Amino acid sequence: MTEPFPEVSRQTLADRVYSQLRDSIINGKLDDGTELNQVELAEQFGVSRVPVREALRRLQAENLVVANPYQRHVVRTVSPEDVVEMVELREELEVFALRKAMRRMRAGHQEAAAAAEDALARQSVKLRGEQWLAADHEFHRQFHASPVVAALIDDLRQRVHRYFQVVVADTQRRSQVIEEHRALLDAIEADDEDRAVALLRAHVRHTRALLAHYLGHDGEGPAEPAPPAAPPERPVVRRRARSSAKERGS
Ligand SMILES: [Zn+2]
Repeated sequence: MTEPFPEVSRQTLADRVYSQLRDSIINGKLDDGTELNQVELAEQFGVSRVPVREALRRLQAENLVVANPYQRHVVRTVSPEDVVEMVELREELEVFALRKAMRRMRAGHQEAAAAAEDALARQSVKLRGEQWLAADHEFHRQFHASPVVAALIDDLRQRVHRYFQVVVADTQRRSQVIEEHRALLDAIEADDEDRAVALLRAHVRHTRALLAHYLGHDGEGPAEPAPPAAPPERPVVRRRARSSAKERGS
């Protein structure tokens, strides 16, 4: 080989192949279970198999790609349960991040709320799918002050990104999302932490329930958000009487 610095150029090619494949997986251009054939990929990218192999190894390490015993790589299939669980985990991390952000705001750092106001003002129901998701992320990330938590939340978001296309297509949900963001931001600005946390949880759970519905993961018990606890003050007999009266009445 007469190529100068072959290691460097090989690394750069692997980077390029890696990031393009990663984007295609995250955006759902490559479906779950799609085989990533090294020879075909090398041809498509116009590179040798070395950078392709390197890129696949990195995607495998990130758990986005799996290799079977014959070294055939496929896009990892994520079950509906896993997708829902990642959204549940995001809820917990977002709550953690929000509590921290509100503590910072109390200490005089108000920039997050101002940036969230800007992000919310830009969030229009008319945005296209990807832009809509980006705008939602932009709003939420203003309260992810810790880089560690921000990176974990970003990772979780990316891993479920391709399953969100169905939710994004539900334009009725969009105006609700904007209202939920508005209420959340009001609670944050009023420094009402309990209310802000409750609204954030309700917001993420709302999206999660919709996602579970589209993925056909309804009614799977613990994976579903617990319904708000109804106060047990009303006796069963009275409730039955009331509901039958209501049925007749309306
Ligand atoms: Zn949101």
